[in-house]
Amino acid sequence: MNQLIRCKNCDQVFMKSPFDQYPEYELGLDRPPETFQNTEKDDFQDFLIHHQGHELENLKIIDDSYASEKAYSEPVKTSFFKATNGKEKFVIKKFRERIDEPLKYQLISGDYSLKCVAVEIQSENISKQLERELNPRPSQEKIDAFLKLYGAIAEGVDIKDLERSPEESYHPLEVYHKIDDTRLMFLLRNCRNIFKGQEYLAMEEFIHRHKDDGVLLLKASYKIRITQLAKTRKRATPTPLPFEKEKILGQK
Ligand SMILES: [Zn+2]
Repeated sequence: MNQLIRCKNCDQVFMKSPFDQYPEYELGLDRPPETFQNTEKDDFQDFLIHHQGHELENLKIIDDSYASEKAYSEPVKTSFFKATNGKEKFVIKKFRERIDEPLKYQLISGDYSLKCVAVEIQSENISKQLERELNPRPSQEKIDAFLKLYGAIAEGVDIKDLERSPEESYHPLEVYHKIDDTRLMFLLRNCRNIFKGQEYLAMEEFIHRHKDDGVLLLKASYKIRITQLAKTRKRATPTPLPFEKEKILGQK
């Protein structure tokens, strides 16, 4: 359904995406679908008029390239994704400043990458879960010692070594990872210094229950690093291309 169109002369993009443009429509409020579609159509006609005689091309959005500083559910935000025309790669900035504004798409020159800035344990969730599941509940001192031990393990981790958990994250820049067997062994071995007897056994079970999809997943936080490039790319000249162009729907 989504069609991303780039004007090669102006380096502007238009996203034909009926479900993306207006948040009111997504939420099923006020605007009936016909009015909405007409508005979308009008916007696209405006784009075509504005770029009349220019060379337009379809861009394909690159899978899994989405990045944003804010949660998926946050309607007012700036996010980025990458797209390609088969030869060149582009970065598209998608944003809106107010909830009642349509989304805007801007082609920016440059690139971005995600950098892991922190690997943390879910201290609060671990504490809560221990209180909920362990009976009798370990002393606060022991819980703190466990968090300290696990925190130290997380600190030394290179996140690239760890498997990503399939658990969905609500935030595009937070990814959960499972600890590997070597670190698991290290954790269990050191837990023997904190917990004894039955309490140790209960902890061991707790760790196995929560290491793959529970509170023991490590949270990796990322930051978007944008590398802005100087605009050196030449403006497209209207020389005919050697390959057959894809027709852009609605273009006259
Ligand atoms: Zn143009």
